[in-house]
Amino acid sequence: MTLRPAKENAGITFVRTDLHGAKVHARAGSVCDTTLSTTLSENGVKVATVEHLLSALWGLGIDNLIVELSGEEVPIMDGSAAPFVDLIRSVGIAEQKALRAFIRIKREIEVRQGDAVATLKPYAGFKTRYTFVADHPVYNRYPKEAELDFADVSYVNDVSKARSFGLIRDLAQARAINRCLGSSLENAVGIDDVKVVNEEGLRYEDEFVKHKVLDAIGDLYLLGRPMLAEFYGCMSGHTLNNKLAQALLRCQDAWDVITVDHGAEMSGSPVRVPSIV
Ligand SMILES: [Zn+2]
Repeated sequence: MTLRPAKENAGITFVRTDLHGAKVHARAGSVCDTTLSTTLSENGVKVATVEHLLSALWGLGIDNLIVELSGEEVPIMDGSAAPFVDLIRSVGIAEQKALRAFIRIKREIEVRQGDAVATLKPYAGFKTRYTFVADHPVYNRYPKEAELDFADVSYVNDVSKARSFGLIRDLAQARAINRCLGSSLENAVGIDDVKVVNEEGLRYEDEFVKHKVLDAIGDLYLLGRPMLAEFYGCMSGHTLNNKLAQALLRCQDAWDVITVDHGAEMSGSPVRVPSIV
């Protein structure tokens, strides 16, 4: 994967260098598969596992980027967004002249699937609440709820390092159907019947629920812009996150796009622009 600067208002575009530079735009409407990760498809060209990179991009305030890939899948790295954050910060981020545009939620939108719920509500900033419901002796030992207001919380320090996780026995099943073939304790937190298997333990006490927040941020960034909203998820995963994004796109009265210049941000405007970094 190679990241290259893109022009103002260009958005995030994936380019498959192994397929003559075929482009796949980061759009919620291009999602074709949400089994275990989020996959995009445009004119038959796919890009898989986009959510952790996109989460890092929202977290760092990157609106425009070309992401070149020499294969179908974004590298999984350590299963979190931290390696992307570190690499991008090591080269620096260029500020462009265009004003930053945000999707402002004007009324509540909710989608459900069984007991799972995902909601966006109006909020003058960006806040996430997530409830992780899983009855398992290991999950039961750690926090299952997180409320993060990014006016006070740092995406980089408090969210980006949260890794993917799963039960070792589910992983064995996934491998049997040719999924997660590259997954290991190098890029996920593995859980057996009684404990976290990784020697180093967890990076945050609430790493599981924070990874769900990290995923939701990445999935929602397929809307193309950061949001002024409160997101609430209960057992919501890639499928429901994308349903929420698509539902929002259909309800045009539920949101608008506003631009906020730096001056407004600095002068204590009523819009608390989330400086997520
Ligand atoms: Zn994830």
